[in-house]
Amino acid sequence: METRNLVIIGSGPAGYTAAIYAARANLSPLVIGGFMMGGQSGGQLMITTDVENYPGFPDGIKGPELMAKFRAQAERFGTEVWDKDVAKVDFSKRPFVVSTDEKQVAAQAVIIATGAAARRLNTPAEERFWNKGISACATCDGSLPIFRDKPIAVIGGGDTAMEEALYLTRFGSKITIIHRRDDFRASDIMLERARKHPKIAWKTSAVLEDTSGDKLLQSLKVKDLKSGAVETLPANGLFLAIGHEPNTGVFKGRIDLDEAGYIKTDGDARTNVPGVFAAGDCVDHVYRQAVTAAGQGCMAALQAERFLEAERK
Ligand SMILES: Cc1cc2nc3c(=O)[nH]c(=O)nc-3n(C[C@H](O)[C@H](O)[C@H](O)COP(=O)(O)OP(=O)(O)OC[C@H]3O[C@@H](n4cnc5c(N)ncnc54)[C@H](O)[C@@H]3O)c2cc1C
Repeated sequence: METRNLVIIGSGPAGYTAAIYAARANLSPLVIGGFMMGGQSGGQLMITTDVENYPGFPDGIKGPELMAKFRAQAERFGTEVWDKDVAKVDFSKRPFVVSTDEKQVAAQAVIIATGAAARRLNTPAEERFWNKGISACATCDGSLPIFRDKPIAVIGGGDTAMEEALYLTRFGSKITIIHRRDDFRASDIMLERARKHPKIAWKTSAVLEDTSGDKLLQSLKVKDLKSGAVETLPANGLFLAIGHEPNTGVFKGRIDLDEAGYIKTDGDARTNVPGVFAAGDCVDHVYRQAVTAAGQGCMAALQAERFLEAERK
């Protein structure tokens, strides 16, 4: 079996940034980039349209175009990319072994950058206006012109839903929080902040039944679970805040994860297994942005480089 200095698992902003740094440090990294986001590598930005907050692109850039640039930059310095999913890892001894369904590779160090996925409703109502008014990220999409001074709804009952709703008050005319129960998982402080906000309205014990609009979302049908009544709610935006799932199933029992499945690190990208590092949305359940994931990818690569260098001395 071939042995590499460094294998990077994941091809989002964290994985490719780690690859750029590692390749420039002559580590000849291999990125095993994943195939999960709609059958392609590149991570979450492959399923979005305009990215307007990534520094260096004053006019914005399409998500897939940005990721093609990340990849080209990583390859330019000698990164090899396999567009495959990692199916198994063995971190019990070094060199570590990383396996896809077809191949195995040994690695002196590994960076995990497998990201996360926003939970979706997976209904036709959502599918119809995904990226056409429906989004899972207020920080990413909230300021788009289509939402300016327009009614917006947020689905969810946790802290993220409150945060998203409060953030959206800067742009929308009215923000309605739709939650399927009467009680909320959100902390008292976040709930209180949302309750006090004059632009925020509530629909509890309520679920989304349907969406309608012409090319873009214009209204929702919301069902009251107690009375069974269905109401039409004008909404040009619908933000899902029903949680994220880190893509870390493969690493369960191999490295320490928290209760929600996020990879635990020491804050400097080191996991509990020396030589295994982690970066981006598979670690970070707070910021979840391309630029923070890229920054963490850089940290992980610098740590991996130091780790390998220390062994050579
Ligand atoms: C619709 C949408 C719009 C967004 N818009 C913005 C925006 O405008 N600005 C912004 O800053 N952020 C935005 N984000 C958030 C941003 O995309 C993420 O924060 C960022 O992509 C995280 O980068 P990452 O590298 O950690 O993970 P990801 O981008 O999630 O990449 C993870 C990679 O790991 C791969 N992978 C997973 N499991 C395996 C496995 N077993 N083997 C191999 N590979 C695996 C995946 O296929 C993927 O390629 C948006 C997110 C979404 C969903």
